[in-house]
Amino acid sequence: MLVKINQKSEIPLIGVLPFGIIDRGTNLLQIRPTSVCNLKCPFCSTNANNEDFHPNNYLVDPDYLISWAKEIFSFKEIEYGEANLDSVGEILTHPEITKIAKGISEIKQVKTISMQTNGSLLTKQKVKQLEPYLTRINLSINAFTEKKAKYLSGSKSYNLNNILETAKAISNSKIELLLAPVWIPNVNDGDILEIIKLAKQLNAKLGIQKYETYQYSRKLKEAKPINFFKFFKQLEKWEKEYNIKLKLRKEDFSIHLAKRYPITMKKGEKLQAVIKAPGWQKNQMIAVAKNRAITVNNCKKEINDLINIQILQEKNNIYIAKLI
Ligand code: SF4
Repeated sequence: MLVKINQKSEIPLIGVLPFGIIDRGTNLLQIRPTSVCNLKCPFCSTNANNEDFHPNNYLVDPDYLISWAKEIFSFKEIEYGEANLDSVGEILTHPEITKIAKGISEIKQVKTISMQTNGSLLTKQKVKQLEPYLTRINLSINAFTEKKAKYLSGSKSYNLNNILETAKAISNSKIELLLAPVWIPNVNDGDILEIIKLAKQLNAKLGIQKYETYQYSRKLKEAKPINFFKFFKQLEKWEKEYNIKLKLRKEDFSIHLAKRYPITMKKGEKLQAVIKAPGWQKNQMIAVAKNRAITVNNCKKEINDLINIQILQEKNNIYIAKLI
């Protein structure tokens, strides 16, 4: 089911992972307009586009999202803010993404807007539309042959040539291009080398990401995960070999600590909340209390039911609770 989140839904846009705003205590806010994804990558860390695991997805109303972003950025009392438009799925599946980018770009504190995308829904025309509002596009491209690209996107219609054309269009626009492949050892080692060469050709930044597996992520049997030490050693090796910067730090993006939007519930706290939407995973519901959205595990109550809960987690203003 696609759940629409707007002012009327009475669901605050801070508190849950699949939509809204994530504040990790810096001058950067992650802005999540949707959880829908159009691909089904076999290594996906969020297990996106899997109805058995995520029976519900979310679509946030642009004006509602922009007003929350405005409120949180102004609370932070910063001069330089970055809005990272991202998603647990693919952001460009949101039908009003240009309106969102425009609205966020008009927020006083926002000096940089980046967008995380798999690129498959980007066209030259879309790049033109977004150009006035975006500072940077982080494009995830994980393979360099048509066959492997289809395999690693889990989609027969994935078209690598189109992605490469779009990458060129971005690099010829005012938007900065950052290629962000996931290096999956034993699966796309050769492809990563080609992507490094592509980044040099296009004068793009490169942010190689480490393949990670989690309890619920999709995993590739043939992959050979490595630890962070080996990962950074390999990046250093490629840096020397290709004369390109690969170890990116927060400072490379002007990210610094900043006032956190208030955490309104503490771990262990017991309180009442109202159910407002079905959850992202099976057996979860989204409830609301103290102006925050909360994921309630193992909950089969109905919308508008009043429930008693205990907060299990509140890190970064992301709340998980259980029924009591
Ligand atoms: S594009 Fe991203 S979110 Fe979608 S399936 Fe692939 S890795 Fe997951």
